[in-house]
Amino acid sequence: MTGAGAYRTYSAMNERTKKLAALDKDYLWHPFTQMTEWLKSEPVIIDSAEGFYLIDTEGRHYIDGVSSLWCNVHGHRVKQIDDAIKAQIDKVSHSTLLGLGQTRSIELAERLVQIAPPGLGKVFYSDSGATAVEIGLKMAYQYFQNRGEKNRTKFVALEASYHGDTIGSVSLGGIKTFHSIFKPLLFETYFVPSPHPYRFGGTEKECALHSLSRIEGVLSERFEQIVAVVVEPLVQGAGGIIVHPQGFLSAVRELTQKYGVLLIADEVATGFGKTGRMFGCEAEQVSPDIMCLGKGITGGYLPLAATLTTQEIFDAFLGDVTEHKTFYHGHTYTGNALACAAALASLDLFEQNKVLESLPAKIELIRQYFSNIGELPFVGDIRQCGLMGGIEIVKDKSSKESFPPGRRIGSRLCSSMRPAGVMLRPLGDCVVVMPPVAIGLELLEKLLEIVYRAVKNELPHIIESCDAD
Ligand code: PLP
Repeated sequence: MTGAGAYRTYSAMNERTKKLAALDKDYLWHPFTQMTEWLKSEPVIIDSAEGFYLIDTEGRHYIDGVSSLWCNVHGHRVKQIDDAIKAQIDKVSHSTLLGLGQTRSIELAERLVQIAPPGLGKVFYSDSGATAVEIGLKMAYQYFQNRGEKNRTKFVALEASYHGDTIGSVSLGGIKTFHSIFKPLLFETYFVPSPHPYRFGGTEKECALHSLSRIEGVLSERFEQIVAVVVEPLVQGAGGIIVHPQGFLSAVRELTQKYGVLLIADEVATGFGKTGRMFGCEAEQVSPDIMCLGKGITGGYLPLAATLTTQEIFDAFLGDVTEHKTFYHGHTYTGNALACAAALASLDLFEQNKVLESLPAKIELIRQYFSNIGELPFVGDIRQCGLMGGIEIVKDKSSKESFPPGRRIGSRLCSSMRPAGVMLRPLGDCVVVMPPVAIGLELLEKLLEIVYRAVKNELPHIIESCDAD
């Protein structure tokens, strides 16, 4: 393994890669990417995939260690999903759901309701996690409007939460780096501290109670204005894999019931096996009023999302057209037939391959590796919820002081794993490990071994070279 960022020189790229890299730099603007850095970089360009490996234009193979941004489930080029999409192409690729039915979207809605927490009986489709949340918050708001509770216009969300990048979802987002610039455009939300044990000066229990008491404070004072509390169940992903203390979610659910506000569970990241169960809510037997799904819903193949809700909320939208209780929301590609076909095939695979049953052994393997990684220098905290893992790198283990963000330690550390054949994407200095849930034990061990070695052997060099800068 070589030092960070020194794994390949531009001249060593083949002609096709060079040409594509130049075209990329000429024409593309990459999401969540400082383009000044990108334009100076030698990009990896993915050209194909095989199973749990991504393959670049140089023919290099990388284990898809963050499941292609947390969405891949069964691997890539899975025959059953490929075949389902191809068969659907021969029927119809897309037709609108605005005033029309469509076979696959109906079949999928029934399947989603069958696997969702009890009480969620209606499915509203869209095409990304952000739109699933956007729909959830508009649905919740209009539910109260339709019932005549006109003062309910506010939401409660957790600090460091992430719900997507549309303006409504950003209004519920609490990650300053991403969200504060947009503040003048956003609606007002009451933010409460997220229960982040590592950054809290006290026990896990005290940490949870601190957040819960703040939620209760807002609800008791303002419940007549509150529409809903919005949470990522069990683990706040983009905030840095912040794993909530056990019992937090169910306690939030009790508070929402006590004060008569809705609970919106954003399962976009946690859904479809990532936490060790089909949905995070199951761990604490919570049935939210609204549940948002995305990412893994199609096995990570195509853009599809769904917002599930209860019969009670659905019923509040019924009435004569002239009453204007209709939910005026929809997207052109809502419930796309190809994406629904992929999602149905993915759910079949969950059953046929007993994917959920296979998870405990993988979760235990991650736990073992993480506990060893946690002993290494500069590792401040290791966090894990099912197959969602985060390794937080800090400058000083005892004071928990972070490195200055400009050093980009997390990013350099992840880049250093590429020559060994692992593709990861960090969140700041938190190295995220989130493999596709169906990954085999052997390959998972290979991935974890590479991560362990990089943290042990490469990280000190990376830090040293930064210090020398
Ligand atoms: N909600 C959560 C919890 C997420 O983690 C994400 C994306 O990471 C989103 C919503 C947004 O999903 P998308 O990127 O598909 O819009």
